[in-house]
Amino acid sequence: MPVQRFRPYTAQRYRLEAKKCKKCGKIHFPPRLVCDKCGGRDFETVILPERGKIFTYTIVRLPADEFKYYKPIPVAIVALENGVKIMGQITDADIQDVKIGQPVHFVFRKMREEGKRGLIQYSYKFKIDG
Ligand SMILES: [Zn+2]
Repeated sequence: MPVQRFRPYTAQRYRLEAKKCKKCGKIHFPPRLVCDKCGGRDFETVILPERGKIFTYTIVRLPADEFKYYKPIPVAIVALENGVKIMGQITDADIQDVKIGQPVHFVFRKMREEGKRGLIQYSYKFKIDG
């Protein structure tokens, strides 16, 4: 049986881990070292809600070669239940089902494979509810 190799990935990618500024409360995803709102450098870890609605989206019709199996790719900005907006791919969807206001939920998916050695990179995506 072939040995599966995994790229190291960070917690923010597999459970929507964000950083909340202790000074002003702004939530950053992906995390930053310095808050862009107040300049604060002290953060606490928060886990973002896994459900939200499509705030806006675009359809990427000519993605890079390594993503060719997935095209065309809907890429959305999702407004999560706590109001934080994050960008992500919409997976397993027919293009006509991707609409503003559509409820979606977080999934953890394979992003791409690299070459014959089978390096696999994972990240979050969103899937339409239903
Ligand atoms: Zn701040």
